[in-house]
Amino acid sequence: MPRWIKEAAIGFVPVLILFLAFVGINMVPLLIAAVLIGALFMVLKMKGGIAVGAASDRNRKKVAPAKLTFEEIGGQENAKQELREALDFLIRHEEIQKFGIRPLKGILLTGPPGTGKTLMAKAAAHYTNSVFVAASGSEFVEMYVGVGAGRIRDLFKDARNRAAKENKQNAIIFIDEIDVIGGKREGGQQREYDQTLNQLLTEMDGIYSSESPRLLVIAATNRKEMLDSALLRPGRFDRHIQVDLPDKKARTHILNLHAGNKPLHPDVDLDKIAEEAYGFSGAQLESVMNEAAIYTMRESVDMIRQSHLSMAIDKVMMGERSDRESNLEEKKRVAIHELGHAIMAELVRPGSVKQVALSPRGKALGYVRHNPQQEQYLYTKTFLEEQIMIALGGAAAEEIYYGGRSTGSSNDFEQSINIVETMMKSGLTSLGIVNMNMVTTEELMKENNQILENLMGQTKQLLLQNRPIFDHSLDILMTEEILSGEQFRCQFRENALQPA
Ligand code: ATP
Repeated sequence: MPRWIKEAAIGFVPVLILFLAFVGINMVPLLIAAVLIGALFMVLKMKGGIAVGAASDRNRKKVAPAKLTFEEIGGQENAKQELREALDFLIRHEEIQKFGIRPLKGILLTGPPGTGKTLMAKAAAHYTNSVFVAASGSEFVEMYVGVGAGRIRDLFKDARNRAAKENKQNAIIFIDEIDVIGGKREGGQQREYDQTLNQLLTEMDGIYSSESPRLLVIAATNRKEMLDSALLRPGRFDRHIQVDLPDKKARTHILNLHAGNKPLHPDVDLDKIAEEAYGFSGAQLESVMNEAAIYTMRESVDMIRQSHLSMAIDKVMMGERSDRESNLEEKKRVAIHELGHAIMAELVRPGSVKQVALSPRGKALGYVRHNPQQEQYLYTKTFLEEQIMIALGGAAAEEIYYGGRSTGSSNDFEQSINIVETMMKSGLTSLGIVNMNMVTTEELMKENNQILENLMGQTKQLLLQNRPIFDHSLDILMTEEILSGEQFRCQFRENALQPA
């Protein structure tokens, strides 16, 4: 039965009974019959005759066979090492007890989506020979106060029951998206969330190293800063492990893992694919291998080739090619917009453009592909400003040619504003070294506008200085619909303009 029906019934039935009693209908026989049916139902449930209840259904679905090992997780060497060390608390529990060390109750995995946090929790269960019970924070969020708390209780009960049934000493409870229930408590409005979180804290406080099975809660989030401090204090989730986006070596490793069951042509160079897949998460890399296999099957060939993998990268990065037909005027605007980005990119980072294309992909009507970048972890103010200028290039070009912008720049602006925010937080603006709470919204807006207007001005000026390149590239792009990096740089050389 869908959960909402059950919860609507819980709300509706008492009101109906009161109403019928109010209008003078004798409710006693009906209530006795309901109690008898309820009792019969409970007896059957206890005997295992019928499986009922959203919680048990849900938990049964979630108890995935945790056969995954740490070797099947690509990269993440530090995170895996830290996690293994933490898990030794569970394995070496006798020693831990001897020294009077309190048990480790919670491990928090933090990092961007798709980086393998769930995989790590499953591997942890395998490593410690535990049963694995999983749930997601959003499953505990309900309209009615107390339902979420009840589900937390069920989850812990289920973990204990399953461990007893499977004769295991340990159970790992994995809660994904913990931020949904574990966000900072502000009192008042959020009673349901508070009760759910309180229940989780109570359950965690009730974990003892001497009890059997020993429980360990692993939670995952990509918004650690949102979590209530009560969750993070010692004795709760006091081990924090960062699960980051993979670097090039880790990307190659992940690609190799997912290529294991696929027919790869001997010429395929996964190292090169890993280089091109800069900034991809593990989940996106898995998707690249999968999409490449689909392209191979579609072409009715036996083996995955490099070209299939390159196409798959484009698809994962920008979405599937769509057959949206745009009119000539719209096509020209898109070409101008994309060339604005491409010229700025080539001016500030010579050799960086791989391709400019007019073919519609995903939601975009055109795109610029960049050559793989070096791994980089620190950014200078100049680098960030150049990045903003590349993002503003599209809107600046539209202004030059048409005297106004279109809706096609909204993502570029969002990207630019995010970079400005990073600059502010890093003390790279005229606001100085500040905490964002020290500054009023007006001050932030003023600084943001000043930076963006200034960079927009510089972008337009650079594009105007390179107008001949612009006009020639536009002609080619409008007829060919594609402009390779080499063709593009040829325009730079022929028009005898030097990158700034
Ligand atoms: P979310 O935060 O969105 O829940 P997550 O970090 O929990 O994501 P997972 O669910 O563990 O990510 O990963 C999703 C899929 O991506 C996995 O099933 C796997 O196919 C692939 N994947 C992610 N990271 C790795 C990795 N390090 N090695 C191998 N495969 C990976």
